[in-house]
Amino acid sequence: VVDTALIQALDREHFLHPFTDFKDLATRGARVITKAENIYVWDSEGHKILDAMSGLWCVNVGYGREELASAAYRQMMLLSYYNSFFQTTNVPAVQLAAKLAALAPEVGGRSFRHVFYSSSGSESNDSNVRMVRRYWDLLGQPQRKVIISRNNAYHGSTMAGASLGGMSGMHAQGDLPIPNITHIEQPYFYELGQPGESSAEFGLRAARWLEEKIIETGPDKVAAFIAEPVQGAGGVIIAPDSYWPEIQRIVDKYGILLISDEVICAFGRLGYWFAYEKFGYRPDLVTFAKGVTSGYIPLGGVMVGDRVATVLIEQGGEFNHGYTYSGHPVACAVALANLELMEKENLPGRVRDDIGPYLARRFTELGEHPLVGLAETCGFMAGLVLVRNKATQEAFKPELGVGMLCRSHCFRLGLIMRAVGDRMIIAPPLVMTHDQIDEMIALIRRCLDATLAD
Ligand code: PLP
Repeated sequence: VVDTALIQALDREHFLHPFTDFKDLATRGARVITKAENIYVWDSEGHKILDAMSGLWCVNVGYGREELASAAYRQMMLLSYYNSFFQTTNVPAVQLAAKLAALAPEVGGRSFRHVFYSSSGSESNDSNVRMVRRYWDLLGQPQRKVIISRNNAYHGSTMAGASLGGMSGMHAQGDLPIPNITHIEQPYFYELGQPGESSAEFGLRAARWLEEKIIETGPDKVAAFIAEPVQGAGGVIIAPDSYWPEIQRIVDKYGILLISDEVICAFGRLGYWFAYEKFGYRPDLVTFAKGVTSGYIPLGGVMVGDRVATVLIEQGGEFNHGYTYSGHPVACAVALANLELMEKENLPGRVRDDIGPYLARRFTELGEHPLVGLAETCGFMAGLVLVRNKATQEAFKPELGVGMLCRSHCFRLGLIMRAVGDRMIIAPPLVMTHDQIDEMIALIRRCLDATLAD
């Protein structure tokens, strides 16, 4: 039995939570999550809550899977830790690299045969910055330093990760972005589409912001463009279909590297092992983390495509970059067990052909609710926009905090949904059944009704 009051008091005294208003938390007290199974978590007071966010977009195989726990136990007893610096390696790290290389599809003659490991998405994006700059240095173009990203993107919380990210609130703290990182607008049709413009036309216009930025920066100064396949933390922002082919045309035209940040979107979330396959573009580097271990243990990394790997390997000499936990044997063993489970249960295929389409049908029905201006899904991610006036799509005043109000109704009614402004988003575990999708939709409806009643 957990003494909730005691844990909350100690929490208040000693634990500075990430992305949290410390003073506010101290007044309210944190909800203590004590256990989890399948798609549900429980708090210390016994409330059962359906976790429609898979933790932080990571628990793809659901909670409490024996296979992952025993893989960790076995590996800890065999080789709990060893580093991969200085010409040593370990079996799970090698096997996982080979497995990831086999799962990453070749596109347009470009394949991914190499992996650089870290322990998180943020670190992986820092590694990307290092690798991209090293690549251009080795090719005798050291002036190519600028990395272009997008507003409202999330690429992590380290200095480089937060700089690549496009959230103004994060830039305001810590004097960011660091030099040579710049941003274009996000491909968010609902907010940025013009009257009379089709989503296809908007997709092309949004992609061409990249070309404009390359020209403005100077094409010989641009090193790379980084983007999430679907912007997750920004609010599940799904680009129109016309967007990615045009982005590909532009990066090819100027010869710049393309980084696909798939920390959320890989490992089945969009119905594929890697999301670039869904959209058909050809990245040079792919960031991964979260779903690779279903969040059971920290692990991240970068899939390094042949274009970059060949230069780093053939011309690079020593690469002065890496982490104590790069290729951690226990994390890699858990990842292998996780991927094996995902293969056995065909989770990417389920999302693509079964539960993804079912979620799309059930979630878009919420678009009929008087509070909802838009409801859309992509794979097993979804977002809806809360509006003041459905007919005119008039938004609520931000200071009303309607999204946060809806989020607190969700919590009270036993559902974890995230609010990004007035966009309510979900990314449930990929093991959900149809009945559980129905249960989740019914809960969302109750939360919307409760918000409307306020
Ligand atoms: N990149 C993307 C697209 C993410 O969504 C996240 C985290 O949500 C990160 C990077 C950062 O990952 P981490 O929190 O593991 O550092």
